[in-house]
Amino acid sequence: MEDCVFCSIVNKTLEKELLYEDDKVVVFKDILPKAPVHLLIVSKDHIVSINHIADTQENLAGHMVNVARKMALKYGVYESGYRLIFNVGRDGGQVIPHLHLHLLGGKTLEA
Ligand code: 5GP
Ligand code: ZN
Repeated sequence: MEDCVFCSIVNKTLEKELLYEDDKVVVFKDILPKAPVHLLIVSKDHIVSINHIADTQENLAGHMVNVARKMALKYGVYESGYRLIFNVGRDGGQVIPHLHLHLLGGKTLEA
């Protein structure tokens, strides 16, 4: 989608530092990290949020969690622990309207 920052990264016009890519998602570092490890698992398709996943894409969120778990292992927070967050909509604190899963770790996160 034009003018979507995450679509631009997916389409590689913006980000050179993709940490992982498969047919459904890409992974890159958050530009304003809130923890020593702060990665974003981002759908390749422009899907606005969890609310907008079609029935035919019902495995997508599970796939994103699975990729996040592999990234947690690769980036050294699998054993120490980490947090996975989908922000959804205005009250959920979602700023970028393109489906993404936050992976945070590397320090003790506040409850
Ligand atoms: P949201 O609040 O929508 O769940 O989170 C969006 C996240 O995307 C924020 O943590 C923000 O720092 C990150 N972000 C916004 N623009 C960019 C960008 O251009 N590149 C990267 N790597 N991260 C971004
Ligand atoms: Zn997009």
